[in-house]
Amino acid sequence: MLCLMCLFVCMNGGGNFMEKFEGLNRGMVERFAPRPGRYRLLPALTEEAKLALMCRMLFREGWNEHIAGHITLRTEDGDILTNPWELAWDEVRAGDVMRLDRNGSVLKGDWNVTPAIGLHVQLHRLRSDVNVIVHNHSRYSMVWANAHRIPPVYDQTGAHCGVELPLFNEYAGTFEKENVTEEVARALGDAKWALLANHGALVVGKDLRQAHLRAITLEWRCRRAWEVELLGGGVPLDDGEVEKVSITDANGFPFLWEAMARRELVRDPKLVE
Ligand SMILES: [Zn+2]
Repeated sequence: MLCLMCLFVCMNGGGNFMEKFEGLNRGMVERFAPRPGRYRLLPALTEEAKLALMCRMLFREGWNEHIAGHITLRTEDGDILTNPWELAWDEVRAGDVMRLDRNGSVLKGDWNVTPAIGLHVQLHRLRSDVNVIVHNHSRYSMVWANAHRIPPVYDQTGAHCGVELPLFNEYAGTFEKENVTEEVARALGDAKWALLANHGALVVGKDLRQAHLRAITLEWRCRRAWEVELLGGGVPLDDGEVEKVSITDANGFPFLWEAMARRELVRDPKLVE
């Protein structure tokens, strides 16, 4: 069996060593990480494989309520890729990923699509800047969403995407009704994320890297704040410090998406099939 590192080296072909600028601030990366590295950070991946990876990576980070949740990725040609309704996020493979048209009708795929897909269709339509949408009932985000409270930011990892975090308190429970999804999509405005009271969490992004950072930062922030509260409380970072750290939100956190993706590829190389 071909080892994954051999695969990366073989696919690199000795030429362009790393695709390390994709989605990143190139000037910043060249300044702080000028060395090429020994092998390519990731093998070439289809858009479907990237979506399957996103499901696996976020499942690992607490976005994992049984088979709940949906991720959409709008491709360059305007199609929408999404995970199947029937499968949990930790078992999705590239070949399971469904391809929809911009209205949410299935173009390709053997599975079914969540009845809640309307929220994604409406949000993609309303927000030209949003190509990735993530929704699930992530564990620690839901602790705060159920309490109708916003978690303070206590550390750097929880600060990557800024302070502002809206809470939508319009209980719908599911996203199956068109008027409800339309309301949520419009209420989101230009927000990057939101806690949904008594329901879950929603994150959007321009690409998978940004949406991934936002999703893992939200869950981290919620978990830390809950843990600190268990101790009787702590001292949150002040907003100015959070804003300084959150420069990563726009530019992408260098090499993080790739590192977490490699972890999943090692665990299950078949996810790209
Ligand atoms: Zn939900």
